[in-house]
Amino acid sequence: MCSLFMSCDSNEKKSEEVNLYSQRHYSVDELQYENFTKLTGIKVNVIKANADELIERLKNEGENSPADLFITVDAGKLQKAAELELLQKVSNSKINDNVSNDLKDKNGYWVPITYRARIVVYSNDRVNKNDLSTYEDLANEKWKGRILVRSSSNAYNQALMSSMVANLGSDVASSWSNGIVKNFARDPKGSDRDQVKAIAAGQGDLAIVNSYYIGLLLSSKKEEELNAGKSVSVFFPNQEDRGSHINVSGIGLTKNSPNKENAIKLMEYLTGEEAQNTYVNNSYEYAANPKVKPSKIVQAWGTFKRDELDLNMLGKFRQEAIRIFDKTGWK
Ligand code: FE
Repeated sequence: MCSLFMSCDSNEKKSEEVNLYSQRHYSVDELQYENFTKLTGIKVNVIKANADELIERLKNEGENSPADLFITVDAGKLQKAAELELLQKVSNSKINDNVSNDLKDKNGYWVPITYRARIVVYSNDRVNKNDLSTYEDLANEKWKGRILVRSSSNAYNQALMSSMVANLGSDVASSWSNGIVKNFARDPKGSDRDQVKAIAAGQGDLAIVNSYYIGLLLSSKKEEELNAGKSVSVFFPNQEDRGSHINVSGIGLTKNSPNKENAIKLMEYLTGEEAQNTYVNNSYEYAANPKVKPSKIVQAWGTFKRDELDLNMLGKFRQEAIRIFDKTGWK
């Protein structure tokens, strides 16, 4: 409140802060928030959990939620939060200009900060690159006993399957899933990084993983990780047709954001060139800002065509994707 004795400038009255509910799990994030605080004086408070837990929390807290921003590693969860009316639209020309059009939410409820491709990596010793083509081809019996991939409970796999359903329909996606399961080198377990390590250990020949994990392995100080990264090459599927499946890590402004101005400042900062460079050079993701080039390590894989499917479809077809995984025995 303003009075004769108090300034109306809110900066002088309360300490400035912004509260994040974040699904991201990368060490680069702390660096981003420190840099933002240095620049603006705004303190960044972060609560990390998986996206469904954070959505539940936002729902339960309702109008009393302290959260300003919801950050995920999956457009599908942002779409879900928007559908549950937990987010509000942001129209800000700076943020809008910062990010590529095809990565944006057509409804305006969330903003991409980075994107990543779910790619195929293959053993340098045991796979000929010319034998690779599409996600669909991974169901071919020539790959029997050779494919490594994590569990279907993982959001990255659910998003990939959602993209298969959206692009090809449920029937084709189901028979694809059947074929993949038949070709498993082992029952799904572990993280994306673990699949690459398993190729290095000779337990399988191909893995489906997020692109940045290869950057993280190749820049690792741990010899085991570095060797795993070096034992494989990167392949972008479906370059002759729809492009490789991508997903974004993105931000939504919560419906009841108590520090809205600060939240929007952070969205501007994270999509701006400085922070985008910090992302690409530390987490090896691709920048949502088209002015920012990938890290040197990632540039070495070449450019690729990305599937321009409306990313909200990754949320829309999530339940169908889970049904297909269950039906076809992808654990
Ligand atoms: Fe990840």
